[in-house]
Amino acid sequence: MEKYRKALKENKLKATPKRIAIIKFFLKNKKYASAFDVYCHLRANFKKIGFPTVYRNLDNLTKIGILTKFELDEKNLFYYGICAADKGVHHHHIICERCHKISDFELCNFESLKGEIEKETGFLINHHNLFLKGICKLCQESMGGER
Ligand SMILES: [Zn+2]
Ligand SMILES: [Zn+2]
Ligand SMILES: [Zn+2]
Repeated sequence: MEKYRKALKENKLKATPKRIAIIKFFLKNKKYASAFDVYCHLRANFKKIGFPTVYRNLDNLTKIGILTKFELDEKNLFYYGICAADKGVHHHHIICERCHKISDFELCNFESLKGEIEKETGFLINHHNLFLKGICKLCQESMGGER
């Protein structure tokens, strides 16, 4: 929690009770969630909270790297997950399609492919994004090892 408070401060965003509640929600359940899921959760403690407020706070937290936002193609909806990696560390995200857990990983060999892709496309690449989906270890175990 401390590092997220620090990130808020560094980015001149106040650690409002709502922002803290959003971060705690994600830290606690370690799963990704839609803006509506977060809204439903916050309504228990912030009776008068509006959906646009939740949405705005989620996007603010995403902009400063506390949350990561992604689209699940089959539903055309955006989801958010907590970003556990340290600030500025190159990394990507992986989600479990069964339990919706989200994890960060730093392994990336894109640099070794980059030259080849640049040669093939004629582009100079300055950004890449990798987003993986799969089945987490716990889910594999609960499925009795079948894959
Ligand atoms: Zn991350
Ligand atoms: Zn899982
Ligand atoms: Zn990478």
